[in-house]
Amino acid sequence: MNPATYDIHIRGLVQGVGFRPFIYRLAKEMRMKGWVENRNDGVWIRVTCTGSALNDFINCIRKEAPEASEIFSIEFKEVSPEVIDDFRIIKSRNISDDITEISPDIAVCNDCLEDMKHQPHRMDYPFINCTNCGPRFTIIRDLPYDREKTSMEPFVMCDECHTEYSSVLDRRFHAQPVACNNCGPSYELLEDGKSIHDLQQILVRICFLLENGRIVTIKGMGGFFIACDATNQQTVSRLRALKKREGKPFAVMCASLEAAREYAHLDTEEEKLLSSWRRPIVLLRERAKLAPDVSVGFDTVGIMLPYMPFHYLLFERLKLNVIVLTSGNLSDEPILIDNNRTIEQLSHSTDAILIYNREIYNRTDDSVTMVVNGAERLIRRSRGYVPAPVRLSLPVDGIFASGAELVNCFCIGKDHQAYLSQHIGDLKNMETYSFYRESAEHFSRMFRFTPDVAAADLHPDYLSSRFAHELGIPVTGIQHHHAHIASCLAEHGLDEPVIGVAFDGVGYGDDGHIWGGEFLICGLDNYQRYTHFDYVPMPGGDRATEEPWRMAVSYLYCTFGRTFMELDLPFLRHIPSEILDLVLAAIEKRINCPLTSSAGRLFDAVSALTGLCTVAGFHAEAPMRLEAATDGQIKEYYEVVMDQTIHFESMIEAMVKDMVKGISSSVISAKFHNTVVESSLQVVTRMRSDSAIHKVALSGGSFQNRFLLSRLENRLHQNGFEVYSNRRVPANDGGIALGQLAVAAKRRMIGSNV
Ligand code: ZN
Ligand code: ZN
Ligand code: FE
Repeated sequence: MNPATYDIHIRGLVQGVGFRPFIYRLAKEMRMKGWVENRNDGVWIRVTCTGSALNDFINCIRKEAPEASEIFSIEFKEVSPEVIDDFRIIKSRNISDDITEISPDIAVCNDCLEDMKHQPHRMDYPFINCTNCGPRFTIIRDLPYDREKTSMEPFVMCDECHTEYSSVLDRRFHAQPVACNNCGPSYELLEDGKSIHDLQQILVRICFLLENGRIVTIKGMGGFFIACDATNQQTVSRLRALKKREGKPFAVMCASLEAAREYAHLDTEEEKLLSSWRRPIVLLRERAKLAPDVSVGFDTVGIMLPYMPFHYLLFERLKLNVIVLTSGNLSDEPILIDNNRTIEQLSHSTDAILIYNREIYNRTDDSVTMVVNGAERLIRRSRGYVPAPVRLSLPVDGIFASGAELVNCFCIGKDHQAYLSQHIGDLKNMETYSFYRESAEHFSRMFRFTPDVAAADLHPDYLSSRFAHELGIPVTGIQHHHAHIASCLAEHGLDEPVIGVAFDGVGYGDDGHIWGGEFLICGLDNYQRYTHFDYVPMPGGDRATEEPWRMAVSYLYCTFGRTFMELDLPFLRHIPSEILDLVLAAIEKRINCPLTSSAGRLFDAVSALTGLCTVAGFHAEAPMRLEAATDGQIKEYYEVVMDQTIHFESMIEAMVKDMVKGISSSVISAKFHNTVVESSLQVVTRMRSDSAIHKVALSGGSFQNRFLLSRLENRLHQNGFEVYSNRRVPANDGGIALGQLAVAAKRRMIGSNV
């Protein structure tokens, strides 16, 4: 075969992840002649070779691409023949204002960990990195991704670093954050008004502090974290008091995979996730070894592995193989990123503060993820994931989706890509809302984004919706649960009506009631509400969310009227009778009792009724306690009544009977979960015969419940349904902006303004 000349165009996450050096080495190995170049629209390669060599080359690119890269497409075409006698990397030129992708932050690679032991100018250098690893998103201010546009800008490369940076064959060729002991950022430990600059002394001191039950603030990749011995109950409970969160589990960092196995049960999928370059917190089944106050009665623990060079240096010297590493913030504020503010806020409450002199531009929390039915399910999408886009089948250019409220994340559209922001948090907190506005601005600048349409939740009081309306562009309002299901459709590339099952805590309904147990016939542009959990009063409105016993009382009242008072249910003994009377009067007179069909509130009710959680210490505690109590062996379920809506009175009645019989809360919890699964299956089966649709999409915060998700998925599969659920974006409100974006895109495309 005669050689010809080809242009290969690779699109995807191929910049800032060591892609060009990879192509260069591969081309040299395969004796290809030509060049590779970074352009705004991806990587371009020109080669002169035979057709079969071209095929081999492309196959190898696909197979061996750097771990943190993601290839969306490889296209090639023949161009006019050119004789090239070498393979070269040619200097990037900016073709247009089209964006280049920004890589998420990448955990330090094994080669760098090796270099840290051998390279004279990088012995134990705690900011070592290369083209395959290191900070990216957290230090980027603008594009194109060049050193001057990052917080590495104040650090002038030394000659040695510059030589590496400029030589094509070096692993640090064009690694923007390249640095060493002589020229890069450095750490400083602050304790009792004294400061230590020497890294070895810092390490010795931090080890001493951690081993002796002290609490240390440590600057991480995307923000500050607070660390302590995870096996020391006294210290962990001191940390708990300091963070003012009584019930919420803390994440821990283990020294290695082996150490992680000591504290949790791991399957292959979970091991892979735990050690992936993204280094998320993985929710795992705990073996009882950590201080009880780490996971406060839950049977799961969030574990992550070291991802910064500093973490490795620390664990090499530390006698502990596990530490608590929780976000450095007080209560619900965003994680701290600024040195001075952190010193102000934490120097009195923690025993020492470790800072470094490089700024964090983009705040990112640790991501949280889990494996259910063999697949990853994101719970919090931040470090290691953001800002990698989700590719959609529709053009979404110019759309800004403002997200929801409590677990906020926004999303911008460029071309066919959805860029979700990092996890922002609860917008009702002032600081968090300014973080939201700031991030929206950062994303617009980085991605050269100017919105011409906005998408917002229908809830009139959400700050995110108000923000969208203040942009001065047309806003399309999207029902909360429609957006949830659309997020699932969008990430699976579906654009057709499906059966949508949306279970969550709160979502503003078209009828002004609070929705959350919804069965929808749902496409991207619009939806029909097929049926839902029957409305029940939510006594005290939002207070019912904080005090799940109110929902138990509401369900009991709907079932028995006031006679439930005679049942002498244990959970009621803790509630002062005058308050109970007020709540009952409120239900009867419909005072401050919005109606809700929320699945979250139903889970709350059962959690309180069984005495597992009557007052919630943190968001979603009651359903989490209920799930944790579940006995997985139980197959039975309760009966429910279905007419226009789904009624749970018969279930509550049977449940109370079980309680009187002395049946354990773990059995009752299992029967309850099974009831939700079986009744959903019945509804969905009826929907299938009415609509001839057999695709089911599951979304909403309740699907963070592994037991519910895994059982419902399995039962649907067994009954011949095609099941879709969220994987790459959270099923909770953190994924909702993706759904909003897709709905707005579809409506724009068909010229509808529903
Ligand atoms: Zn590296
Ligand atoms: Zn240097
Ligand atoms: Fe929701």
